[in-house]
Amino acid sequence: MILTDRAGINIEYSEDGGFPRFVNSVAGKRIELLYDINTEPYAARMYEMLIAADCDVVEVEFPDEELLPTEDKCDFAGWAAKGCDYVLAVGSGTLNDMAKYIAFCEGVPSGVMATAASMDGYCSSGAALMRGGFKVTDSVRAPRDILIDPEIIRCAPRELTAAGFGDIIGKYTCLADWKLSNLINGEPIHTEAYSLMERALGACIEAYGGLTEYRADAIAELMDALITAGISMAMCGNSRPASGSEHHQSHFLEMDFARRGEPIPPHGIKVGIGTLVSLSIYKYIADHRVPCKNAEQVYALARSLPDEETVRDMLVGMGAPVRFSEIGVREETMRRMLFEAHTVRDRYTVLTLAAELGIMDDMIADIMEKYF
Ligand SMILES: [Zn+2]
Repeated sequence: MILTDRAGINIEYSEDGGFPRFVNSVAGKRIELLYDINTEPYAARMYEMLIAADCDVVEVEFPDEELLPTEDKCDFAGWAAKGCDYVLAVGSGTLNDMAKYIAFCEGVPSGVMATAASMDGYCSSGAALMRGGFKVTDSVRAPRDILIDPEIIRCAPRELTAAGFGDIIGKYTCLADWKLSNLINGEPIHTEAYSLMERALGACIEAYGGLTEYRADAIAELMDALITAGISMAMCGNSRPASGSEHHQSHFLEMDFARRGEPIPPHGIKVGIGTLVSLSIYKYIADHRVPCKNAEQVYALARSLPDEETVRDMLVGMGAPVRFSEIGVREETMRRMLFEAHTVRDRYTVLTLAAELGIMDDMIADIMEKYF
């Protein structure tokens, strides 16, 4: 199931390196092309395609290996975008966010030529930026085009692909959390968004063998699942289809890293380990038949999830860490996370249930042993 043109976004997969639909749509226009030193070789290919289509190309190359979307960088790229009809990023999270922001300020469309299957924010309408040293998320507009050459993404640093896979494997617990909230609080489920995400997760898991070999067709399934997450969220109007207890753990840790001024490990890597923790909590509730509302249905939901060992082995197979200590999380922080992560968002998850039932004290030793 590979999506093309969803939610008004041109999602174009390339088979021979070209993107005819996109290039025809911008022929003869003035385009700002944003990239950094990591994505420069791919930007050079895009530059040639645009020049061949009579475009006037304004190139902005950031000389950074780890680009941060700070005000001065956004201002510079924004200044260079004056008079442009379109802003195209060649990159993943940061460059896409900058392109979305700059294009929004200039009142023109943006697009991204994806260079890594690292996160599920490609088609989101938010832009995560740095302002005054703080991370802020501006509400802008989703990109008009997402250009995917699986050959390029196949060659991305493997940690990035592992992170993208971690973000997708997290949809198991995130979708389960949604059902859990439905069982406990009667929160409605947007069935179309739910099944769209569930099917994309299934297709990605089916492609797992190919993913470990970095086969282009499998990488396309992973990319599709990441894009689907964005589309499901847009459908729902919130992040419920893509973000549950595993994400709340990641957000909690992110704030802690930021407070300490330490580098933040990739989003999907934290989400992958958080998924293992959430699976462990579901298993505990079912195995110990912890009394709760609609208990039998909650146990059945827990039993419908894959077991921790299977998911852990899949993450290991992708080269992803499976313990929080491996990514620099302090023991004390992880302990606090287990008790407090449910408070970072006003959203009911298995972490909220665990807090309500007061069972974390009984589980914590086992969880720390397995995942710290
Ligand atoms: Zn995510």
